[in-house]
Amino acid sequence: MSSNKSGPHPLDPNLAAPGLPVPKPCLSFWQRSTRHSPLLNLNSQQSQDNSVSLPERADVIIIGSGISGALTAYSLLTSPNAPKSVVMLEAREACSGASGRNAGHCRPDAFRGFTAFSKIHGEEQADAILKHEKKVLKLVDEFIKENDVQCDWSLSKTFDVVMGEEFKEYVKTSYERYAGYLKKDVEGVKILGEKDTKEQTRVSSALGGYEWRAASCHPAKLGQALLTMSITKGLQLYTHCPVISVAPSSSDPSSSPSWIVHTPSSQITSPIIIHATNAHAATLIPSLQGKIVPVRAQAHRVIPTPEFCGDRMLTHTYSLRFTLGHFYSLIQRKADGAFILGTSRGIPSISEATKKEIFGAKNDTTYSDEIKDDALARFSEIFGVKPEAMGEGHEYGWTGILGVTPDSVPFIGPIPDSPGQFVIAGFNGHGMARIFGCAPGLANLILGEVKSWEETGMPKCFQITEERLAKMAQAKS
Ligand SMILES: Cc1cc2nc3c(=O)[nH]c(=O)nc-3n(C[C@H](O)[C@H](O)[C@H](O)COP(=O)(O)OP(=O)(O)OC[C@H]3O[C@@H](n4cnc5c(N)ncnc54)[C@H](O)[C@@H]3O)c2cc1C
Repeated sequence: MSSNKSGPHPLDPNLAAPGLPVPKPCLSFWQRSTRHSPLLNLNSQQSQDNSVSLPERADVIIIGSGISGALTAYSLLTSPNAPKSVVMLEAREACSGASGRNAGHCRPDAFRGFTAFSKIHGEEQADAILKHEKKVLKLVDEFIKENDVQCDWSLSKTFDVVMGEEFKEYVKTSYERYAGYLKKDVEGVKILGEKDTKEQTRVSSALGGYEWRAASCHPAKLGQALLTMSITKGLQLYTHCPVISVAPSSSDPSSSPSWIVHTPSSQITSPIIIHATNAHAATLIPSLQGKIVPVRAQAHRVIPTPEFCGDRMLTHTYSLRFTLGHFYSLIQRKADGAFILGTSRGIPSISEATKKEIFGAKNDTTYSDEIKDDALARFSEIFGVKPEAMGEGHEYGWTGILGVTPDSVPFIGPIPDSPGQFVIAGFNGHGMARIFGCAPGLANLILGEVKSWEETGMPKCFQITEERLAKMAQAKS
């Protein structure tokens, strides 16, 4: 942990990279359309008279108010063994990290990841990861329906549209390998030939396709709903309250270990700290330095031309894939007909300057015109449409910061050598398809409601262990 036991300076320049989330990020479409939420600046530590101070202690402190932090809070507070006091500290507005600025897709990886995950984690874990994502879609759907969460949730089918010869081969092999492992066809996945794909997807240059179940939603509304539900159960949320260090408390050595959490203007003590800080986790957990890396992602809102309005709207969500790393995600929102066009970091033509803005970056104050122009050109070319009327076409773009791990899966669980500290971070651009299967499991583990990792329902490879950290350190050296 940041180890300045006498308390750090608020603007400590030695804070380990990636540092704190930058102040004044750009607003995503999701944030722009929820400016009325009373949560955004709740208990702001930036209030003019600095009148808000933190309680002295809490049973649990959660750092980060994204979907990971919010669902962990809700899971803790709705448990029969709920802690009495749970405090959440958020550096910026409520839910203003990746959860409030993603591409709105809750889309399990149905089979494609089998090859890549097997290489890193072995076939059994690759299978566990894929099954977990499939389960998560069901969990989110049930949660939203049971709690009547208003977040534009739309369960549909999704197309993986094959746009390149090399990728065609890759994805075919992945399917065959996974089916070979399962010793049967991959349940829920329909393989489409070239002709059917062209017809059904309306993509005339498609080389083939796959179809399965997925969903889309308004992620900021989902995150805000989780926070509101948690607040109803007792969560105390403090926004604009960045945590700058977590240090061991030395006040009473005879009592059980606890931690002092420092913010620029206050401090608070707790025996249990949960880091739900995604791309920024390594700032407060040095052992994750270089193991959760910030990477900037970009998405756009595009207003459809008449070919895609009313009863001509797309029925499915899409991933339009040229290669494994070069793709565009697409959802057409049932709520208003607008497209959300997500981009990837593998655009072949991308300049070195733009690459620098993406990798290791934590600046979500702006977006790249180069990435926007590429995405719009591809979209236009793929669907053969061009905006003609004023108001059609690109409306708005935004960025957010992903927490990327070298082994493509998150770090979850008790942090080695830091008793009482836990992490749930590093979702690799797939948080919507993973967090609902992770946060409740972590809460159960913390409360002792499950006795082993296996009982949490999470794949074993998601666990943060000394061995996993050491293996990554070795691979780097
Ligand atoms: C443009 C974009 C498109 C994406 N598209 C998709 C998609 O379609 N589908 C999908 O599954 N995933 C997608 N993702 C990824 C997904 O959004 C994330 O995996 C998920 O939201 C992670 O949630 P989280 O709660 O772990 O992290 P976050 O939502 O990032 O929350 C972390 C929070 O911690 C706060 N914080 C960090 N450090 C501190 C500190 N020191 N003190 C206090 N607070 C701190 C941050 O401000 C932030 O609010 C996308 C992401 C982006 C950026």
